[in-house]
Amino acid sequence: MAVLDRFQDPGYVNWLKAGQALLCTAEGIYDFCEGPIKQYHRKLHEKFPWKRCRDNCGDKKLCGVCTHRRREWRKDILTQFIPPSTPCWKNVKVDMWETNYWEIAKVFMGPGQDTTTAPSVTDPKGLLQLVINCMLFSNCVSRMESFQTVKQKRNEVFHSADFKLSYTELDDYINDMTTLLQDPTQLLKDDKAKEAIRVLQQVTHAQRSGIK
Ligand SMILES: [Zn+2]
Repeated sequence: MAVLDRFQDPGYVNWLKAGQALLCTAEGIYDFCEGPIKQYHRKLHEKFPWKRCRDNCGDKKLCGVCTHRRREWRKDILTQFIPPSTPCWKNVKVDMWETNYWEIAKVFMGPGQDTTTAPSVTDPKGLLQLVINCMLFSNCVSRMESFQTVKQKRNEVFHSADFKLSYTELDDYINDMTTLLQDPTQLLKDDKAKEAIRVLQQVTHAQRSGIK
């Protein structure tokens, strides 16, 4: 098959649509992911205040006060993990902890998220891992299994050998994403989640009416 013929292949087009639908789902949970982490970041500041020290410490050399504070933040963050998930400290720029709440979120994600600075520049997999691994989201979600399902299917789709999906597979995947976005505890009332569902419905409708 010539390379450009791939774009005429419905299976490949479905695979591309699945990627787009996943991005759209991620956009739908930006605000949802931000809320509990921002709140927790404020709480950490209250518990272990981040005052400027006399030594004006950087990232490499730290005075006793800064070392102690970082240790306290770290210890507290570790209490927020849902077993068996484990922290990925490599993702985190500790010297940014004071100012950027997202540097806390990244420790709950798998490796490779070190350059992201906000939900909007984090890949969908990272956002799903955050919700699944972090205890702060336990009370914000009724159906955690829907996050697990979308994450698992995301892995299957993106590791596929031929980059193809059948119409039924795409339909199922979009249904799973819609279920996630309609989680009754918070997402059902979330404007970004509602907008994402609207876009997913357009993809489904286009597919069912034969628009390629
Ligand atoms: Zn210091």
